[in-house]
Amino acid sequence: MPELPEVETVKSSLEPHLIGKTIKEVKVLYKNLIDTDDFEKKLVNQKIIKLNRVGKFIIFHLTDKTLISHLRMEGKYFLRENNDIYKHDHVVFKLDNGLNLVYNDVRKFGRFKILSKDKYLNEKPLSNLGPEPKNANVNQIFRILKKKNVSIKTALLDQKVISGLGNIYVDETLFESKIHPLKKTYKLKYFEVKKIIENAIKILESAINMGGTTIRTYYSTMGIDGKFQNRLKIHTKINQPCLNCKQKIEKIKVSGRGTYVCKNCQK
Ligand SMILES: [Zn+2]
Repeated sequence: MPELPEVETVKSSLEPHLIGKTIKEVKVLYKNLIDTDDFEKKLVNQKIIKLNRVGKFIIFHLTDKTLISHLRMEGKYFLRENNDIYKHDHVVFKLDNGLNLVYNDVRKFGRFKILSKDKYLNEKPLSNLGPEPKNANVNQIFRILKKKNVSIKTALLDQKVISGLGNIYVDETLFESKIHPLKKTYKLKYFEVKKIIENAIKILESAINMGGTTIRTYYSTMGIDGKFQNRLKIHTKINQPCLNCKQKIEKIKVSGRGTYVCKNCQK
């Protein structure tokens, strides 16, 4: 599943091709991906002013609207010069330069929504998002976690608490912070929360610089593969020796998600 660094990679690889282009036609081939019946009509003749990212959402700033796109499990974008439709193509945006921006999604979990031009951050679903780690206030996150009785991994996956982290980067962040993924949030000390946020910032930044992580089915736009998988220290490393203590890395389930942990280092 694409997380913050992968979505950032998709955004920045699309950006140079889309800025200043006008959407001439929209075809939605799978209606469940969109939120309104007049989706196609609303986007015609809208110019793409700029692209942005908030949490794991790609934000298309248009002439007088904001279009948001969430890739969920397997969403991908392609730019095509022809009008051919391939398997799993669900939305086609025809641009005024003849290119088609195609949204392709094997699992069909991705979502689009049209929001207002200026108040989009105050509209759902963006208004429900917590801050990204780099904008997070440690005091505030500490207070939120103190009141919760869930595991720290579950809390970090909750986009309302903090946005942008998913399964891979939560595992990496908790390993770096030496905290067990099942540790209850109310038991965390202030310095531990501070460490978690600092490590999340560091790991996400380094993953963005490497174009994200390519694991199994996830590839970013136009075949650009992330390189961060080579830097993973714990995620996917079952039965391999921990880089700190050489003890075998174990795989457990937390909130139904495969979770990798060194039980010796992470307490
Ligand atoms: Zn260890």
